[in-house]
Amino acid sequence: MGRTSKDKRDVYYRLAKENGWRARSAFKLLQLDEEFQLFKGVKRAVDLCAAPGSWSQVLSQKVGGQGSGQVVAVDLQAMAPLPGVIQIQGDITQLSTAKEIIQHFEGCPADLVVCDGAPDVTGLHDVDEYMQAQLLLAALNIATHVLKLGGCFVAKIFRGRDVTLLYSQLRIFFSSVLCAKPKSSRNSSIEAFAVCQGYDPPEGFIPDLTRPLLNHSYDFNQLDGPTRVIVPFVACGDLSAYDSDRTYSLDLDGGSEYKYTPPTQPPIAPPYQEACRLKKNGQLAKELLPQECSINSVDKLPQ
Ligand code: SAM
Repeated sequence: MGRTSKDKRDVYYRLAKENGWRARSAFKLLQLDEEFQLFKGVKRAVDLCAAPGSWSQVLSQKVGGQGSGQVVAVDLQAMAPLPGVIQIQGDITQLSTAKEIIQHFEGCPADLVVCDGAPDVTGLHDVDEYMQAQLLLAALNIATHVLKLGGCFVAKIFRGRDVTLLYSQLRIFFSSVLCAKPKSSRNSSIEAFAVCQGYDPPEGFIPDLTRPLLNHSYDFNQLDGPTRVIVPFVACGDLSAYDSDRTYSLDLDGGSEYKYTPPTQPPIAPPYQEACRLKKNGQLAKELLPQECSINSVDKLPQ
């Protein structure tokens, strides 16, 4: 695919580069804020699963008014530095990472915790949804340690078969839980965002990183009837905003000449770098042609 064809096919990818955002995801957070005023009065925020850092860019500009707030960003991947953002490289499902995050907020809780975490998608929907849910629960566990009462938690969610279980788990901790879909998130994707406002844990709840946050022993099917939680669905982003599922002409505003813009911040140490190196040296495993496969190999299997 040529450089310009991606600009044409994905308008938010193009706009992100032109507006200096590291990723198109920046628009998702901005559109969520348009709907829910997430940044109002926020001085301290945590950005979980933050790389390459477009949400951290948004937070560093919006938090504390003139960007004078505290933002802690965490990801498995290394991330290029951002002014005013404290970075931690680690796995949010690991106790050591969670402890490192929490220590930044001891005595001074956060107003907002966001998590745009996504696992490496396998294509096996049940597995992907399960992994996504585990990331969300790890993020929620961290949030229970750092969030102030009344604080807000926003997390990517996959709207799969068992999503109502996650909603009911979130409702245990927040007075309001909604499912929001920003215009910059493709309709074709099962991704949406759980917007949880009014942190209000059950009476007597003591956050504990060493124990699973919630009791998973109950049966999914018990969440039928009156115990089934249905949360409101909110489509957000201005109605006139670009449609992320459409292909646009390069001449977006029908006048000025299109000029290609390179990505704001190419990934540092991306996982595919090693594959590129191996390919260049002819060391990458190649697919065998049918005549190269030994038909007799079946005969050699242990009996
Ligand atoms: N919000 C980011 C931005 O605006 O640039 C994009 C986040 S990207 C969609 C998802 C990120 O989740 C990836 O960078 C990935 O490394 C991170 N991630 C996935 N599993 C993680 C884990 N267990 N701990 C920390 N980060 C994780």
